Amino acid sequence: MRRFLLLLFLFFLVYRLVKNLLINRRDRRSLVPGDSSQIGSKEMVKDPQCNTYIPKDEAISRRIRGQSYYFCSKECAQRFKERKSAS
Ligand SMILES: [Zn+2]
Repeated sequence: MRRFLLLLFLFFLVYRLVKNLLINRRDRRSLVPGDSSQIGSKEMVKDPQCNTYIPKDEAISRRIRGQSYYFCSKECAQRFKERKSAS
């Protein structure tokens, strides 16, 4: 009878150990950023010429006086450049 209780106790310990391992594994998986990396690739930038927001990978980037600007179109980039050099 005592042996049976010991076995039961051992089973209980193993059960708890396995359960903890499974929970830990699930926690670790949730820490891995899966969705946030997709949001990061769709970064929005502001066109300083017409004040519209465009995705960074679709925007036209220009370096004016050492600073990077993003535009929705070449026309905006050109107009902004002219405005900057005029002032
Ligand atoms: Zn624009």
